[in-house]
Amino acid sequence: MDRIERMHTFLASMDTGNSDFLNRLEEEARDAYVPIIRRETQSVLRVMLASVKPKNILEVGCAVGFSAILMCENSDAHITTIENYEKRIEPARENFKAAGVSDRVDLIFGDAQDVLPELDGPYDFIFMDAAKGQYIHFLPEVMRLLSPGGMLISDNVLQEGDILESHYAVERRNRTIYKRMREYLHEITHRDDLVTTILPIGDGLAVSVKK
Ligand code: SAH
Ligand code: MG
Repeated sequence: MDRIERMHTFLASMDTGNSDFLNRLEEEARDAYVPIIRRETQSVLRVMLASVKPKNILEVGCAVGFSAILMCENSDAHITTIENYEKRIEPARENFKAAGVSDRVDLIFGDAQDVLPELDGPYDFIFMDAAKGQYIHFLPEVMRLLSPGGMLISDNVLQEGDILESHYAVERRNRTIYKRMREYLHEITHRDDLVTTILPIGDGLAVSVKK
């Protein structure tokens, strides 16, 4: 094992993890290839939630509800979460029920592109974790919905490392996502109304605060 790997193993050994319910759900989701947030990402989310103490969370990309339940367990917030893949809606609802958080979560079935303009907000914490190539299109609505001082966390921004390669080194089928994600990262790091840091954690996590 090289030093970086050993460091990851060491850090993982410090992670005290989640509730038994979430641990089971995590395993189930992994087995079914549902792309839920990684361990390191979970740990950053827990710290951010403890710091921000949000009252209203918006999540773009619910899947089967793993991260939404994690956010419930680590805040007192009400959560609105969006998912456009019909097959995940019923399992997500079942999971919210089993976790005892149904009354704190509104799951909206639909494409975020259509749902976001219908929302009123404001949200003091937004977790963006849907199709990577669409973040840049969601951003205007996300900025409208994010309250001043609110935090925006965007997952999977490093595209498994592709993001730092030249356009030519990226496989053709990934190029559109690559181009849009570069645009997104440039936008959230250069806007006057956001302060952003990009952490090489999990698949890349951008943490932004609205000024
Ligand atoms: N946040 C979840 C994982 C989300 S995976 C967790 O960590 O537990 C990303 C999800 O976003 C997928 O289920 C996918 O169907 C959904 N998604 C992708 N594009 C979307 C869109 N435009 N609108 C709504 N949901 C979308
Ligand atoms: Mg993700």
